[in-house]
Amino acid sequence: KSGFVSIVGRPNVGKSTLLNRIVGQKIAIMSDKAQTTRNKIQGIYTTPESQIVFIDTPGIHKPKHRLGDFMVDSAFSAFREVDVILFMVNIAEKRGPGDNFIIERLKTVKSPVFLVLNKIDKIHPDQLLPIIEDYRSLVDFEQIIPISASEGNNVDTLLSEVTKYL
Ligand code: GDP
Ligand code: MG
Repeated sequence: KSGFVSIVGRPNVGKSTLLNRIVGQKIAIMSDKAQTTRNKIQGIYTTPESQIVFIDTPGIHKPKHRLGDFMVDSAFSAFREVDVILFMVNIAEKRGPGDNFIIERLKTVKSPVFLVLNKIDKIHPDQLLPIIEDYRSLVDFEQIIPISASEGNNVDTLLSEVTKYL
């Protein structure tokens, strides 16, 4: 099985931390060169059964100018080419305008979107369910997966769920 996965989320939610953990020492390609103007390969996760190419999609943020709108449109159109989109949020912070902006745009994409609730190590387990309900009321996410990218909690589950969509 092989496919393409895009990780999106506002700055500092833990996207790079997750990628580093997943790709780890098994880095096949780690390139700063743009593959296209929109997509940048961040790393490839390889097992005997699967190969998952992780793609960074720059420019997903609330635009400050009209030109910015165009760039965001272009970034989102790149989602047509991926098998799964991982939308990552920081569960330890309140949902903010940056998250909401991305959520609105994600409603228009065709690829399955997983909500990845990162930094579960920073919250009490009792806080988890209300947060899930909050996000679930906004978008019908294909999957909702709480993880800790830095501690590694549940990252294996995330990978095995992603593999089902390749
Ligand atoms: P990015 O901007 O989305 O790529 O975020 P980074 O991967 O650079 O992470 C931003 C900060 O959050 C760094 O200081 C990370 O160490 C921290 N971080 C990432 N994942 C976790 C996590 O699961 N738990 C905690 N406590 N911190 C995390
Ligand atoms: Mg980063």
